[in-house]
Amino acid sequence: MDSMHPPHDIIIVGAGIAGIACALALSQELSPFVPGLKITIYERHDILSTSGGAINLTPVAQRHLAQLGVLEELDRMGPEGGAEVDAVGLYSMRSGRSVGSIDFVDHRGNGYGGFKGRRVMRIVLSMAMMSLVERASNIDLVFGKKVVGGEELNNRAVVQFQDGSKAIGDLVIGCDGVHSAVRTQWIDPECPSQYTGISFLQATIPSDTISSRIHFKSSALNISRHGSMLTSYCDRDHEQIFAAAIVQFSQEDLCYYRLEPGQDWSTQNRIKCALRREMQDRFSKTAIPCIREMVDSKADWMLYPVYQVQPGGRWCGNRVILLGDAAHAMPPRDESAAYALDDAILFARILARFRSEPLSEVFDAYERLRRDTINRAFKESRRMWERNRDMGLLEGRLKEWMMPFYLRSHRDEREAAWEFDATKITIPTPAPSEDLVSLHSFLKEHAP
Ligand SMILES: Cc1cc2nc3c(=O)[nH]c(=O)nc-3n(C[C@H](O)[C@H](O)[C@H](O)COP(=O)(O)OP(=O)(O)OC[C@H]3O[C@@H](n4cnc5c(N)ncnc54)[C@H](O)[C@@H]3O)c2cc1C
Repeated sequence: MDSMHPPHDIIIVGAGIAGIACALALSQELSPFVPGLKITIYERHDILSTSGGAINLTPVAQRHLAQLGVLEELDRMGPEGGAEVDAVGLYSMRSGRSVGSIDFVDHRGNGYGGFKGRRVMRIVLSMAMMSLVERASNIDLVFGKKVVGGEELNNRAVVQFQDGSKAIGDLVIGCDGVHSAVRTQWIDPECPSQYTGISFLQATIPSDTISSRIHFKSSALNISRHGSMLTSYCDRDHEQIFAAAIVQFSQEDLCYYRLEPGQDWSTQNRIKCALRREMQDRFSKTAIPCIREMVDSKADWMLYPVYQVQPGGRWCGNRVILLGDAAHAMPPRDESAAYALDDAILFARILARFRSEPLSEVFDAYERLRRDTINRAFKESRRMWERNRDMGLLEGRLKEWMMPFYLRSHRDEREAAWEFDATKITIPTPAPSEDLVSLHSFLKEHAP
């Protein structure tokens, strides 16, 4: 993009939350100024991925999805569009007692700015986002295109695919997640993803197979000294419970427990049985009966190792920038997807505001607005994440005792965070160019 020539042909790598949100936000913000705007998303999978379980959306994520039109699509999907979450209750697995809650409603039971939390299956969220992409006249989504590298040539950006083909654009936005090829093969090869030492063991369990009383209203985080276990409804009618254990897992053990396509039946069966045993060893002594039942059930637990990208790496080149997990994957909290959505909306707003400026200024303005927030969020997630490591008896009790104090002392901070609106915050204005400054001085000097 040269001065006075906003990018016209934009390539987005990855059709995850950041990629699709970025395409929708750019289409909203840039279309009025860029006739013939063309946005193409390249996704490595051949179809939408059905893996990944359910995701929690905070009031901020819901607000931003509403602004992009996605929430309306989710609501249109009926019961599958997700379960409303007023609060995530925290419980001690040892005693079965409540130790507090993370609330998505204020003291009158209203959501923040009208939005509460929601737990929804990832595939359902992707389908809702996809239906908006299909309706947008200037967005194309191409599946089965795995990016393996890229370069900047003659004021254009060239993306290389595994199948040997290439795509050329004015701007490339890498939204290809924690293991981003745009980051590791192009912008910052020195910044690979790192395993956090913690994995999720996830399963979806039909509620009618659980005979004990369900101890939570919509969502709970059950803590123990062997990790935590999230239990949450993920559909409006509360027919399915999404269960995810967040546990310490050594890197060496990952390959032993990983289900891969192409494995024979006996290997798959061995892994499924080993994961069931892992869940029972950690949680079957809990005082919460419905969790005991889930852990002892025949559920097929899937292992999801959690990776992170150290903050401080490069986010951009001359015509390429990273957004979402590709730039700053942090140990996931309920807010992680919200950060990807914030990135998309803020970047689109800045690009529209700086549309007559060189891309270097767009990237600078975006980083100035975003770096500190992301660094702070990363630190906080790391700190919270450490609480899921295996602990001794005493340390485990201490974690339980401290939890109510921690929740109370951070309540105001959380409430302020739920109010965040990326469409309202002030974004920088481009500095007037020299020509404009001199025109301004000339007019002032020659004013009557
Ligand atoms: C186990 C787990 C649970 C989580 N739970 C929550 C939660 O409850 N709430 C929450 O807010 N956050 C949660 N998160 C974090 C959240 O999932 C991420 O922050 C969010 O998905 C980031 O979106 P993204 O679009 O940047 O990346 P992704 O969602 O990873 O999307 C990246 C996309 O790029 C594609 N891609 C990758 N490489 C290439 C390539 N080379 N070429 C082309 N395409 C490519 C991928 O197939 C994918 O479609 C969780 C994360 C994990 C791992």
